[in-house]
Amino acid sequence: MTKLYEALKKYFGYDNFRENQEDIILHILEGTDVLGIMPTGAGKSLCYQLPAILSKGITLVVSPLISLMKDQVDYLNSVGIESAYLNSSLSGAEYSFIIQGIYQKRYKMIYVAPERLENESFLKTINEMNIEISNVVIDEAHCVSRWGHDFRPSYTRIMQFINQLHIRPTVAAFTATATTNVKEDIVHSLDLKSPEVYITSFDRKNLEFKVFVNENKEQYIRNYITNHVDESGIIYAATRKDAEKLNQYLSGHNINVSIYHAGLSDADRMRAQEDFIYDNVQVMIATNAFGMGIDKSNVRYVIHYNMPRDLEAYYQEAGRAGRDGENSVCILLYSAADTAIQKYFIDESDVSEELKSHEYKKLQLMESYCHTSTCLRRYILEYFGDYSLTEPCGNCSVCNTEVEEKDVTIQAQMILSCIHRSGQRFGRSIIVDTLRGSRNQKVLKFNLNELKTYGLMKDYPKDDLDLLMNRLIADGYIYKTEEQYPILKLTNLSIPLLKNETSLTIQVAKQEKKVHADNSLL
Ligand code: ADP
Ligand code: ZN
Repeated sequence: MTKLYEALKKYFGYDNFRENQEDIILHILEGTDVLGIMPTGAGKSLCYQLPAILSKGITLVVSPLISLMKDQVDYLNSVGIESAYLNSSLSGAEYSFIIQGIYQKRYKMIYVAPERLENESFLKTINEMNIEISNVVIDEAHCVSRWGHDFRPSYTRIMQFINQLHIRPTVAAFTATATTNVKEDIVHSLDLKSPEVYITSFDRKNLEFKVFVNENKEQYIRNYITNHVDESGIIYAATRKDAEKLNQYLSGHNINVSIYHAGLSDADRMRAQEDFIYDNVQVMIATNAFGMGIDKSNVRYVIHYNMPRDLEAYYQEAGRAGRDGENSVCILLYSAADTAIQKYFIDESDVSEELKSHEYKKLQLMESYCHTSTCLRRYILEYFGDYSLTEPCGNCSVCNTEVEEKDVTIQAQMILSCIHRSGQRFGRSIIVDTLRGSRNQKVLKFNLNELKTYGLMKDYPKDDLDLLMNRLIADGYIYKTEEQYPILKLTNLSIPLLKNETSLTIQVAKQEKKVHADNSLL
């Protein structure tokens, strides 16, 4: 035990372990396979770097992030943990030098790109040289799963590599993705043997979550930055074009920002990243190309200029705020166009229909986060399978907005009845058009103008109708099918409501009231 704490202090400078770190380390050292599911910033690296020091043989770390390998290895060497990396950036001579060093037992840790393991000669060298590999660590292990966006075929072949080693090492996998599908895929595809699974609480208490719908996004961001000039923040945009647009807007208002996306040169990206990390520039505008593995501890806010594709992506990006434990804010600025663009990405992606439908579903759950009247923290945690939060958190925009209860039973019945009467076979826009009495071609083609519910809500503002519709979907009164053109259907919550056996109130933000017209239903 004390050996662990000594090493913790000596190599990392810490006095205590964080949640689950010590147990994970002990299991690895005693030879048990481990799956560590830990949110970004929880301290995964230590969980395998420390046992690497105390293990007899080498620890092989499989990581998809070539750019991060060098940083990690430089850091480890600087604190006296002899390490090297093997990836495509090395010359033949460099590669040979490291292989020789492995043979001479010079290293405790070797970082490798997954593709390297597929290389027969690498495996042969290790086996022929009788090199003892104590542990194989798989970082970003969700890359093994076809359900995730970061799927890497080479990850699925890690298992073959491990199985061909003369002595099976201890295998430890780490990821920040906690959904059941992905968890099962990891255990199965990496062939973990009776693994100890550790799930570090996903609750980041120092983060405040906020969602704003239909804000003037540029202006909001500009004001936010101006009111927090001394703070470091990241602004995520969905596309390069959006990132550039925002960059231009802010620059036009004399706000100095860095920008990072895949369309820039390596040198530009490097400069942007360094300016940001070393606090030369406070604000980074980025696409999701920025960040896997970014470790800047004092980010005080993360603003999403667009909604990302799913809550995994959102929580990972938002989670880059407040890694030092200080209070920080995560803001999502939502507009309907954000859903459209993510839908477009899914439509255009070259994956199976099954996976597409899975992604539409995740997108819907992401959108519902933007419209829900549930505590946002609770919504996120439950999405990740963590049901520990039983009370509203008091630290999110749902909890902190002063609201009024409005009875909307009748209006909800009108919507549900229209879905019912039209046979539960239409999508959202046709239902809205029908309720508003539109002479839209599709409405006429399907004779929806003959329904009793046709034009029933023609006096209600479209915004209100949209808002109520969003709530009904987000809170489970309407089910939206998981396909490219989703259809609305009733659920076991909506039927009692239609039959007048239950009523429905929704909470409306008080400050929202002023924008509603006289004929508002809210
Ligand atoms: P992850 O890979 O899970 O996103 P990291 O391994 O990068 O997280 O760790 C996040 C930060 O937490 C790093 O700055 C790291 O040095 C720090 N950290 C890790 N373990 C501890 C600990 N036991 N005590 C204090 N800080 C820690
Ligand atoms: Zn809350």
